[in-house]
Amino acid sequence: MASNLEHTKKTFTLNTGDKIPAIGLGTWQSSKGQVRDAVKVALQKGYRHIDTALAYGNEEEVGQGIKDSGIPREEIWVTTKLDNTWHHRVEEGISTSLKNLGMDYVDLYLVHWPSSTDPNDTSKHLPDWDFIKTWQEMQKLPASGRVKNIGVSNFAIKNLEKLLNDESCKTVPAVNQVELHPNCPSPKLLDYCKGKGIHCTAYSCLGSTNSPLAKDETLKQIAEAKGKTTAQVLLMWGIQRGTSVIPKSVTASRIESNFELDGWELTQEEMDKLSSLPDRFKVCGDGWLPVKVFFGDDE
Ligand code: NAP
Repeated sequence: MASNLEHTKKTFTLNTGDKIPAIGLGTWQSSKGQVRDAVKVALQKGYRHIDTALAYGNEEEVGQGIKDSGIPREEIWVTTKLDNTWHHRVEEGISTSLKNLGMDYVDLYLVHWPSSTDPNDTSKHLPDWDFIKTWQEMQKLPASGRVKNIGVSNFAIKNLEKLLNDESCKTVPAVNQVELHPNCPSPKLLDYCKGKGIHCTAYSCLGSTNSPLAKDETLKQIAEAKGKTTAQVLLMWGIQRGTSVIPKSVTASRIESNFELDGWELTQEEMDKLSSLPDRFKVCGDGWLPVKVFFGDDE
């Protein structure tokens, strides 16, 4: 177990050599009028990592919150994502996100889902495009300096294999951002990514809105014994597994308490108990996409 308990300053080194802060603020379902303040509160508390996406419709406010915070841009890690209906126009996608954010670069640009969806009919997959072609376009971006790192999101082992084994794949994704919490621990996927040098960021790390995890007895007992909130314990579990975590909140007191992770850690026994909870649920399935992207190979 790490002897350095300054988790809020912890970073994970990516295959590019860049360092992603272990704790970031998530911004999905953070409505307009809320997220600007949330980002400012987080950065002033000490967060140095913000996660957004074109699909969240809030990049502009996220950018404003960053400016309001007074923290220099270069001290902050900003991740955004290429939307499914933009796979065949990657260049336009990143230009749009940068314009929304009011920035000239992002630290990490992710293919949000391995689904090249037809913008004219979102029930359909583009007939002449797939994520291999999307990645060919993504690989061109770092040369411009507008994207420091490229990665993927929601890629199961099967799709990662397809990508990495394609002869056009010259850049191994720096990150795979996937759903990870004790009811969706995906140890095989984590192991696979580790073996390929791909860092995993845990999304829905608290179990998302109305999380069933909040009522989990094992989690509650561990939190009570440690004098911590269940959210803090879930975040520590994620960090100690070697994943970065991006809890979302628009509530100032929660944004702050979610960052109070210094000076303590979970024991191996507590880690093991949380890693072996029997219940399973996924916040984000693939039923809304025109293609299947989860194959049970992440179990
Ligand atoms: P989450 O961070 O697991 O949970 C967010 C929910 O927990 C919100 O309802 C929030 O409420 C509540 N919450 C936060 N801190 C709390 C605390 N200390 N005590 C009690 N409740 C607390 O869920 P998520 O938004 O699904 O995931 C996190 C981030 O991951 C997203 O925001 C997004 O940036 C990213 N994500 C990425 C993908 C992808 O496809 N790549 C998919 C999903 C999510 P309040 O806001 O009301 O405080």
